[in-house]
Amino acid sequence: MWPRKRFDIAMYDIALGVFLSLKGVRRELARRRLEDFWAPQGDGMAFLSVRSGFDALWEALALPEGSEVLITAVNIPHMAEIIRRHRLVPVPVDLDLATMGPQVPLLQAALSDKSRALVVAHLFGGQVHVEPLLRWAKSHGLWVIEDCAQAFCGKEYRGHPEADVSMFSFGSIKTATALGGALFRVRDPDLLEKMRLVQQRWPVQSRLRYLRTLLKYAWFSVLCRPIPFGTFVLGCRWLGFDYDQIIHSAVRGFPGEDWLLKIRHQPSGPLLALLHRRLRKYDYTRLLRRAHKGEILLEILSQRVFCPGCQALRRTHWVFPILVENPMEITTRLQQAGFDAARTHSMIVIDPRPGQGNLPLGEARRLLAGMVCLPIYPEMPDRAVRRMADVVLGAYRPRAILVAKTHPVG
Ligand SMILES: *Cc1c(COP(=O)(O)O)cnc(C)c1O
Repeated sequence: MWPRKRFDIAMYDIALGVFLSLKGVRRELARRRLEDFWAPQGDGMAFLSVRSGFDALWEALALPEGSEVLITAVNIPHMAEIIRRHRLVPVPVDLDLATMGPQVPLLQAALSDKSRALVVAHLFGGQVHVEPLLRWAKSHGLWVIEDCAQAFCGKEYRGHPEADVSMFSFGSIKTATALGGALFRVRDPDLLEKMRLVQQRWPVQSRLRYLRTLLKYAWFSVLCRPIPFGTFVLGCRWLGFDYDQIIHSAVRGFPGEDWLLKIRHQPSGPLLALLHRRLRKYDYTRLLRRAHKGEILLEILSQRVFCPGCQALRRTHWVFPILVENPMEITTRLQQAGFDAARTHSMIVIDPRPGQGNLPLGEARRLLAGMVCLPIYPEMPDRAVRRMADVVLGAYRPRAILVAKTHPVG
């Protein structure tokens, strides 16, 4: 069975992380080296996670209570919750599902005299065309924050240079993961300094905690190879467990009610050192291979099936979603054919505040209701990718035929 996801880290790197956690690392030095590597201009900052840095950002900005933050309507739940915890109001803006960007007329409609910031998420491994959004936001005096958590495509691209803040995640399911960590680029030196002061007040992630994370994923990445994974799925079925739920809760970054306390930590020395190494040594042909396989799949499927993000820029296909009317049936057929397509994922449509109930969010809801994520990673041979496409086409019962225009990667 082809598992839905391969952790993008080799056993060698995990072993090195274990070694560093046991031996200890000079944290300040590791932090400086990593940040200098990421951002030689001095505008980079490392965090434990994107959520940690996002939390520090609002703390540092100290916007007046009740200020509104326009945000792409689909993200992980914690992102909107962090905004709320700072007594700000996230205002979800519906998406254009082909580009996965916020719809500009809706942005205009959502703007009020309380709007202070715009958060744009680059979802599924492609990029939103941010220039028009930047121009629009700047003309209204908004801070522009880019959530590039799913869109790492090499250290040459650190976000749009005009964006105020660009955030990249190296959490366990992300590209080039160090099983934690995030890198930010913050344009305004004053804001960067304030964010540093916020982070310095937080406790440091213990080496033991990071060690435990490393060990958990060491065994997880063995499990997520095709043969052990197939056995695991069979075993779960036999015992009556929902393997979907088991995987999903095991890879959750900061579970539990006290997640906000958990994100408010500084990254440990070994995490910083391992992330630095991962970026220095990352094999970018892996990314190219994944992007290429995604494009093969897109080419075959997009004539008949709608693929969200098909018109995004620089597509690397971190995940490959399709939007269908019969998601359950397609998922079952794929699983029978040996492809662990997933209906569960960690994203939600951000709730509007009571009273904002009439915000149009139809596209975002349609996406989450009918989305199936297909497995795609460098290790999958092209013929498996083509066979998967055949299974999808065979199980698909179309209502409308959609021919999508596509942009090549790069
Ligand atoms: C993973 C993810 C995050 C959170 O990243 P962490 O580093 O795990 O906090 C935020 N936004 C999006 C879109 C993500 O996919």
